[in-house]
Amino acid sequence: MTLVRGYAATAAKEKLAPFTFERRALNADDVAIDIKFCGVCHSDIHQARDEWGGGMFPMVPGHEIAGLVTEVGANVTKFKVGDAVGVGCFVDSCTKCEHRHEDLEQYMPGLVQTYNSVEADGVTPTFGGYSDHIVVKEGYVLSIPANLPLDKAAPLLCAGITLYSPLHHWKAGPGKKVAIIGLGGLGHMGVKIAHAMGADVTVLSQSLSKQEDGLRFGAAHYYATNDKDTFTKLQGQFDLIINTVGAAVDWNDYLQLLKIDGVMTLVGVPDAATPPVSAFNLIGSRRTLAGSMIGSIKETQEMLDFCGKHDITADIEVIDIQAINEAFERVVKSDVRYRFVIDMKSLAK
Ligand code: NAP
Ligand code: ZN
Repeated sequence: MTLVRGYAATAAKEKLAPFTFERRALNADDVAIDIKFCGVCHSDIHQARDEWGGGMFPMVPGHEIAGLVTEVGANVTKFKVGDAVGVGCFVDSCTKCEHRHEDLEQYMPGLVQTYNSVEADGVTPTFGGYSDHIVVKEGYVLSIPANLPLDKAAPLLCAGITLYSPLHHWKAGPGKKVAIIGLGGLGHMGVKIAHAMGADVTVLSQSLSKQEDGLRFGAAHYYATNDKDTFTKLQGQFDLIINTVGAAVDWNDYLQLLKIDGVMTLVGVPDAATPPVSAFNLIGSRRTLAGSMIGSIKETQEMLDFCGKHDITADIEVIDIQAINEAFERVVKSDVRYRFVIDMKSLAK
């Protein structure tokens, strides 16, 4: 057992505070990692505040983990001490069901999330990356390309893969018009990745206040959704829309912006009920309303390699862990450019 320092919410909606806990001793197929940086995803806030229900407390959030390998188990072949590695949203998955060979483990019932979950034994709670050390099975550890700095790479482990996966699945690329709704942590990664894939990218943000950044990230067009003319101008324009908004917006307004056969996929999880979807907005142009959740381990490694090749990382604000509660408040107000990343050195302060 290793004693680990971290920050936890002791109950739903409680402020995060220092918390000490134990990680398991290294098994033969495990990798031990010193966590250097961890991104702050909006899902951390939804879960620490128990907005999705079923939260397990104390909860140590954090699933955008970047660090260095400190020790490997006897059977580990892919990693060695000193390697730059990442851990994303899950640390184990089902090995029994019919889909186990399909590289779709994120959709399987036996998924063990990095935190707010229990291990395969059904009882041991998992604790996430707002901490200085983690032990993870080799098969769930990702290699971070050498040219990507660990602090800016950390958000790729959730925000990056959550956008890469649907962009890849629905074939964003040359000749495709892609819109990203919401220029936050997920959205800004989506703009960078879709642009690198060769798509023509449009940002649909609440206002024009981040326009300069959106264009710098690779968007060719930028529209404010608080201007009703936007929805008239853009009718029937897009092949693919990715909705990253974690609030209740009316999806009907956006469905009308799709071409015939266009797809709008949700990745954001609204914090309240959304208005009903009108069938006419789908059947009128054979449109699809879809959803997508993170990505498999294989796809996450593919995304990291793609980002290494194209030199893509997140735009971040590095914080000390003592500032985490203030950071949560700022994320909720969309006041972050574009991801908070915790420097784990600060745990020693
Ligand atoms: P974020 O940094 O807060 O970004 C969300 C963006 O949505 C904001 O920057 C803002 O962009 C826009 N927005 C916020 N409130 C809005 C409102 N009331 N109306 C319209 N737009 C609004 O959050 P994130 O970390 O990117 O996460 C976004 C959502 O995705 C969360 O619900 C999170 O739980 C979910 N998520 C899903 C997955 C998955 O696998 N599907 C993975 C990670 C996260 P503008 O200021 O540009 O309008
Ligand atoms: Zn996340």
